[in-house]
Amino acid sequence: MRLVLLGAPGSGKGTQAAQIVSRLKIAHLSTGEMLRAAVASKSPIGHVVESIMERGELVSDEIVVGIVAERLHGEDVKTGYVLDGFPRTVSQAVALDKVLADRGENLDAAVELKVVANDLIDRIMARASQAKAKGGKERADDNPETFALRLQAYEAQTAPLVDYYRSKSVLRSIDGMQAADAVAAAIRNAIGA
Ligand code: AMP
Repeated sequence: MRLVLLGAPGSGKGTQAAQIVSRLKIAHLSTGEMLRAAVASKSPIGHVVESIMERGELVSDEIVVGIVAERLHGEDVKTGYVLDGFPRTVSQAVALDKVLADRGENLDAAVELKVVANDLIDRIMARASQAKAKGGKERADDNPETFALRLQAYEAQTAPLVDYYRSKSVLRSIDGMQAADAVAAAIRNAIGA
Protein backbone atom coordinates (compact mmCIF):
# COMPACT_ATOMS: atom_id res chain seq x y z
CA MET A 1 0.00 0.00 0.00
CA ARG A 2 1.46 3.35 -1.07
CA LEU A 3 -0.28 6.38 0.39
CA VAL A 4 0.10 10.14 0.47
CA LEU A 5 -1.38 12.06 3.44
CA LEU A 6 -2.42 15.60 2.63
CA GLY A 7 -3.52 18.21 5.14
CA ALA A 8 -2.73 21.61 6.59
CA PRO A 9 -0.22 21.89 9.45
CA GLY A 10 -1.97 20.66 12.60
CA SER A 11 -4.56 18.63 10.67
CA GLY A 12 -3.43 15.39 12.33
CA LYS A 13 -1.27 13.91 9.56
CA GLY A 14 1.45 12.73 11.96
CA THR A 15 -1.05 11.08 14.33
CA GLN A 16 -2.92 9.33 11.53
CA ALA A 17 0.26 8.28 9.72
CA ALA A 18 1.49 6.64 12.95
CA GLN A 19 -1.77 4.66 13.26
CA ILE A 20 -1.74 3.56 9.60
CA VAL A 21 1.87 2.37 9.63
CA SER A 22 1.51 0.39 12.83
CA ARG A 23 -1.68 -1.28 11.56
CA LEU A 24 -0.49 -2.04 8.01
CA LYS A 25 3.18 -2.61 8.92
CA ILE A 26 4.42 -0.19 6.32
CA ALA A 27 7.01 2.59 6.48
CA HIS A 28 6.30 6.12 7.73
CA LEU A 29 8.09 8.66 5.54
CA SER A 30 7.75 12.12 7.06
CA THR A 31 9.79 14.75 5.23
CA GLY A 32 9.42 17.09 8.22
CA GLU A 33 11.01 14.42 10.46
CA MET A 34 13.77 13.74 7.92
CA LEU A 35 14.54 17.45 7.68
CA ARG A 36 14.47 17.93 11.48
CA ALA A 37 16.89 14.97 11.76
CA ALA A 38 19.17 16.66 9.20
CA VAL A 39 19.10 19.86 11.27
CA ALA A 40 19.77 17.98 14.53
CA SER A 41 22.72 16.10 13.02
CA LYS A 42 24.12 19.36 11.62
CA SER A 43 24.50 17.79 8.18
CA PRO A 44 25.15 20.06 5.17
CA ILE A 45 21.47 19.85 4.19
CA GLY A 46 20.56 20.58 7.81
CA HIS A 47 22.49 23.84 7.66
CA VAL A 48 20.70 24.90 4.49
CA VAL A 49 17.19 24.09 5.72
CA GLU A 50 17.30 25.16 9.37
CA SER A 51 16.43 28.84 8.96
CA ILE A 52 13.92 28.11 6.16
CA MET A 53 12.03 25.72 8.46
CA GLU A 54 12.20 28.12 11.39
CA ARG A 55 10.56 30.76 9.24
CA GLY A 56 7.78 28.32 8.27
CA GLU A 57 8.67 28.41 4.58
CA LEU A 58 8.99 25.44 2.28
CA VAL A 59 12.38 23.87 1.65
CA SER A 60 13.30 23.70 -2.06
CA ASP A 61 11.72 21.00 -4.19
CA GLU A 62 15.18 19.87 -5.23
CA ILE A 63 16.30 19.11 -1.67
CA VAL A 64 13.07 17.43 -0.62
CA VAL A 65 12.65 15.36 -3.78
CA GLY A 66 16.28 14.23 -3.44
CA ILE A 67 15.73 13.10 0.16
CA VAL A 68 12.52 11.22 -0.68
CA ALA A 69 13.91 9.59 -3.83
CA GLU A 70 16.86 8.29 -1.81
CA ARG A 71 14.59 7.09 0.99
CA LEU A 72 12.44 5.17 -1.51
CA HIS A 73 15.43 2.94 -2.22
CA GLY A 74 15.29 1.59 1.35
CA GLU A 75 14.42 -2.04 2.02
CA ASP A 76 11.67 -1.09 4.46
CA VAL A 77 9.55 0.66 1.81
CA LYS A 78 9.09 -2.51 -0.23
CA THR A 79 5.88 -3.48 1.56
CA GLY A 80 4.53 0.05 1.22
CA TYR A 81 4.65 3.44 2.89
CA VAL A 82 2.78 6.52 3.99
CA LEU A 83 4.22 9.80 2.76
CA ASP A 84 3.48 12.37 5.46
CA GLY A 85 4.16 15.99 4.45
CA PHE A 86 5.26 15.12 0.93
CA PRO A 87 4.47 16.14 -1.75
CA ARG A 88 3.80 19.75 -0.77
CA THR A 89 3.95 21.35 -4.23
CA VAL A 90 2.65 20.28 -7.62
CA SER A 91 6.22 19.99 -8.83
CA GLN A 92 7.01 17.55 -5.98
CA ALA A 93 3.91 15.54 -6.93
CA VAL A 94 5.05 15.38 -10.55
CA ALA A 95 8.53 14.28 -9.40
CA LEU A 96 6.97 11.59 -7.19
CA ASP A 97 4.86 10.34 -10.10
CA LYS A 98 8.01 10.05 -12.17
CA VAL A 99 9.87 8.08 -9.47
CA LEU A 100 6.85 5.76 -9.16
CA ALA A 101 6.44 5.37 -12.93
CA ASP A 102 10.14 4.50 -13.30
CA ARG A 103 9.56 1.67 -10.83
CA GLY A 104 6.33 0.55 -12.44
CA GLU A 105 4.41 1.55 -9.31
CA ASN A 106 1.47 3.78 -8.52
CA LEU A 107 -0.17 5.43 -5.52
CA ASP A 108 -3.08 3.59 -3.94
CA ALA A 109 -4.57 6.77 -2.50
CA ALA A 110 -3.96 10.38 -1.55
CA VAL A 111 -5.83 10.91 1.72
CA GLU A 112 -6.84 14.50 2.44
CA LEU A 113 -7.57 15.45 6.06
CA LYS A 114 -10.02 18.35 5.84
CA VAL A 115 -10.01 20.71 8.82
CA VAL A 116 -11.27 24.18 9.68
CA ALA A 117 -8.36 26.63 9.49
CA ASN A 118 -9.47 28.57 12.59
CA ASP A 119 -9.10 25.49 14.81
CA LEU A 120 -5.61 24.62 13.63
CA ILE A 121 -3.72 27.13 15.74
CA ASP A 122 -5.27 25.60 18.91
CA ARG A 123 -4.13 22.14 17.82
CA ILE A 124 -0.62 23.36 17.13
CA MET A 125 -0.36 25.08 20.51
CA ALA A 126 -1.72 21.92 22.21
CA ARG A 127 1.01 19.89 20.44
CA ALA A 128 3.65 22.33 21.69
CA SER A 129 2.46 22.14 25.29
CA GLN A 130 2.13 18.32 25.16
CA ALA A 131 5.74 18.07 23.94
CA LYS A 132 6.81 20.31 26.82
CA ALA A 133 4.79 18.34 29.39
CA LYS A 134 6.47 15.12 28.26
CA GLY A 135 9.83 16.77 28.86
CA GLY A 136 10.46 16.94 25.12
CA LYS A 137 11.44 19.90 23.03
CA GLU A 138 8.83 22.01 21.29
CA ARG A 139 9.28 22.33 17.55
CA ALA A 140 10.95 25.60 16.59
CA ASP A 141 8.08 26.25 14.16
CA ASP A 142 5.15 25.54 16.54
CA ASN A 143 4.36 29.12 17.50
CA PRO A 144 1.54 31.42 16.35
CA GLU A 145 3.72 33.65 14.12
CA THR A 146 5.40 30.84 12.20
CA PHE A 147 2.21 28.87 12.11
CA ALA A 148 0.47 31.64 10.15
CA LEU A 149 3.22 31.44 7.53
CA ARG A 150 3.06 27.64 7.39
CA LEU A 151 -0.68 27.85 6.83
CA GLN A 152 -0.16 30.41 4.05
CA ALA A 153 2.43 28.13 2.43
CA TYR A 154 -0.06 25.26 2.65
CA GLU A 155 -2.88 27.22 1.08
CA ALA A 156 -0.76 28.70 -1.71
CA GLN A 157 1.46 25.74 -2.58
CA THR A 158 0.00 22.51 -1.21
CA ALA A 159 -3.80 22.89 -1.43
CA PRO A 160 -3.65 22.67 -5.27
CA LEU A 161 -2.59 19.04 -4.81
CA VAL A 162 -6.15 18.19 -3.82
CA ASP A 163 -7.26 18.90 -7.40
CA TYR A 164 -4.13 17.24 -8.76
CA TYR A 165 -4.94 13.94 -7.04
CA ARG A 166 -8.67 14.28 -7.67
CA SER A 167 -7.93 14.46 -11.39
CA LYS A 168 -5.99 11.20 -11.04
CA SER A 169 -8.94 9.59 -9.22
CA VAL A 170 -6.88 8.69 -6.14
CA LEU A 171 -8.15 11.44 -3.81
CA ARG A 172 -9.97 10.34 -0.63
CA SER A 173 -11.23 13.28 1.46
CA ILE A 174 -11.80 12.70 5.18
CA ASP A 175 -13.39 14.97 7.79
CA GLY A 176 -10.37 15.65 9.98
CA MET A 177 -12.42 17.52 12.62
CA GLN A 178 -13.68 14.26 14.16
CA ALA A 179 -11.98 12.59 17.11
CA ALA A 180 -8.69 10.92 16.13
CA ASP A 181 -10.18 7.40 16.34
CA ALA A 182 -13.09 8.36 14.12
CA VAL A 183 -10.68 9.89 11.59
CA ALA A 184 -8.65 6.65 11.66
CA ALA A 185 -11.81 4.59 11.05
CA ALA A 186 -12.81 6.85 8.15
CA ILE A 187 -9.35 6.42 6.61
CA ARG A 188 -9.56 2.62 6.96
CA ASN A 189 -12.88 2.72 5.21
CA ALA A 190 -11.64 5.05 2.46
CA ILE A 191 -8.55 3.04 1.62
CA GLY A 192 -10.19 -0.33 2.16
CA ALA A 193 -7.41 -1.59 4.43
P1 AMP B 1 6.07 19.10 8.89
O1 AMP B 1 6.74 18.31 9.98
O2 AMP B 1 5.52 18.22 7.80
O3 AMP B 1 5.05 20.07 9.42
O4 AMP B 1 7.21 19.98 8.18
C1 AMP B 1 7.94 20.94 8.90
C2 AMP B 1 8.66 21.88 7.94
O5 AMP B 1 9.58 21.11 7.14
C3 AMP B 1 7.79 22.59 6.92
O6 AMP B 1 7.21 23.78 7.45
C4 AMP B 1 8.80 22.90 5.81
O7 AMP B 1 9.67 23.97 6.18
C5 AMP B 1 9.65 21.63 5.82
N1 AMP B 1 9.08 20.60 4.91
C6 AMP B 1 8.60 19.38 5.27
N2 AMP B 1 8.19 18.70 4.19
C7 AMP B 1 8.41 19.51 3.12
C8 AMP B 1 8.19 19.37 1.73
N3 AMP B 1 7.61 18.27 1.21
N4 AMP B 1 8.54 20.42 0.93
C9 AMP B 1 9.11 21.53 1.42
N5 AMP B 1 9.34 21.72 2.73
C10 AMP B 1 9.00 20.72 3.59
